[in-house]
Amino acid sequence: MKLDQNQQTLLRMLPGVDRILEMTKSEVFFDNIPQSVLVNSIRTTIENHRGRILQKDPNISKDNLSESSILDEVKCCVAKTMAPNLRRVVNATGVVVHTNLGRSLLADEAHEMLSMIARRYSNLEYNLALGKRGSRYSSVDGILCEISGADAAMVVNNNAGAVLLCLETIAKNKTVIVSRGELVEIGGSFRIPDVMAKSGGILKEVGTTNRTHLRDYESAIDEHTGLLLKVHRSNYSVVGFTAELSLQQLVDLGARYNIPVMEDLGSGTFIDFSKYGLMKEPTVQESVATGADVITFSGDKLLGGPQAGIIVGKTGTIDEIKRNPLTRALRIDKLTLAALESTLRLYRDEEKAIRAIPTLRMLTMSSKEIEQKAKRLAKKLLAIDDARMDIKVLQRSSKAGGGALPLLNLPSQCVSINIQGCSANTLEKHLRDNDPPIIGRIEEDKFIMDLRTIQEEEISIIETAITSILKRV
Ligand SMILES: *Cc1c(COP(=O)(O)O)cnc(C)c1O
Repeated sequence: MKLDQNQQTLLRMLPGVDRILEMTKSEVFFDNIPQSVLVNSIRTTIENHRGRILQKDPNISKDNLSESSILDEVKCCVAKTMAPNLRRVVNATGVVVHTNLGRSLLADEAHEMLSMIARRYSNLEYNLALGKRGSRYSSVDGILCEISGADAAMVVNNNAGAVLLCLETIAKNKTVIVSRGELVEIGGSFRIPDVMAKSGGILKEVGTTNRTHLRDYESAIDEHTGLLLKVHRSNYSVVGFTAELSLQQLVDLGARYNIPVMEDLGSGTFIDFSKYGLMKEPTVQESVATGADVITFSGDKLLGGPQAGIIVGKTGTIDEIKRNPLTRALRIDKLTLAALESTLRLYRDEEKAIRAIPTLRMLTMSSKEIEQKAKRLAKKLLAIDDARMDIKVLQRSSKAGGGALPLLNLPSQCVSINIQGCSANTLEKHLRDNDPPIIGRIEEDKFIMDLRTIQEEEISIIETAITSILKRV
């Protein structure tokens, strides 16, 4: 490739790595920065400029090739590399159990327990009463049985793992009867037919998408049948001309033919949300009361705990599951166990659970409370007193998320921001670049923040971010 005069001049201006490295020695900013990070950042910055010169990037000139301006860029690069990749964010989306944003926030109790267990030895698999090896599950199986009413319980890494493990244990090489209306994809590539295939269970679909009857299940039963499975539809609903069997009907059918029954409850909740003016979600206790052999659900959806897959059911079945070697591969970690146990303990007192568990608190938050929060945020933003900014409080609705209550729109209050001379897309990008990033949504060229999922102390974070953005746009 032939380089023109300008390109040759610019390339000659590019400093060497050693020269910039030398310059970093006299700046406090670079003290304590690992050599590898420093050298990589310098190389990346210089290479980036070289590439732009070769591509005749019109925005590159002598000015941004000065040693001091390159050093500034190296600083930015170092700062980015040194910052953690997994970061806190402000969830202004209004989706309470937002899988992309980490689902549930832990209660303080759970967080305290987690941090203590993380830093000290524990009786994770040690029976203190007997002074010998104990079971990893013993810290939570008692409390799980107590709250759910089940005979036995165990926990694994997540609900996807729990479903896989249960199917592999109960139905490997046998047919599993499932309604066509329940062959769902949950997102993040969890599809019931695929998990079934991996478990070695043989899927036998019955009924239609909208209607499945007792006779559909019954006529599918034969000597190869190993399990009747019910799956919570989670993120979608079938409405209109519909029919499905209740778990109880399935359990009664299973009892007549001596076939085990399993339910994948998905979100799983111990609290009847209809008492709080929300839509009815089946509770774990109700499912257990039907006498189903095994029920699985997530720890970090409506339960509001850490990521976990909880399995409750009949003693014989749970014992069999515990003996499956797959259990070792899906083993729950001690930090999760610590957080899960403390979260579960809160459920002994429902009112306390709702106050202490952020997911429950946000879901049951009154409109009034959200409105007051929205007004506080709007007031703070108006106090910045910048004529380019238009702030409004709007009524919108939030979502439960986590595949729970899919049809439910929770009435909520949002604050919308419009800045003259700054498009909603640009504003969204600036807020996403903020430290911590603020994640909201765009509606009719306005940036919208839902106050249901914004924590009280985050109001000032938003205020600071907007103040700083206004200086830059
Ligand atoms: C969410 C969900 C899962 C997966 O649970 P994870 O805890 O995310 O692994 C499985 N089944 C149903 C019905 C779900 O809603």
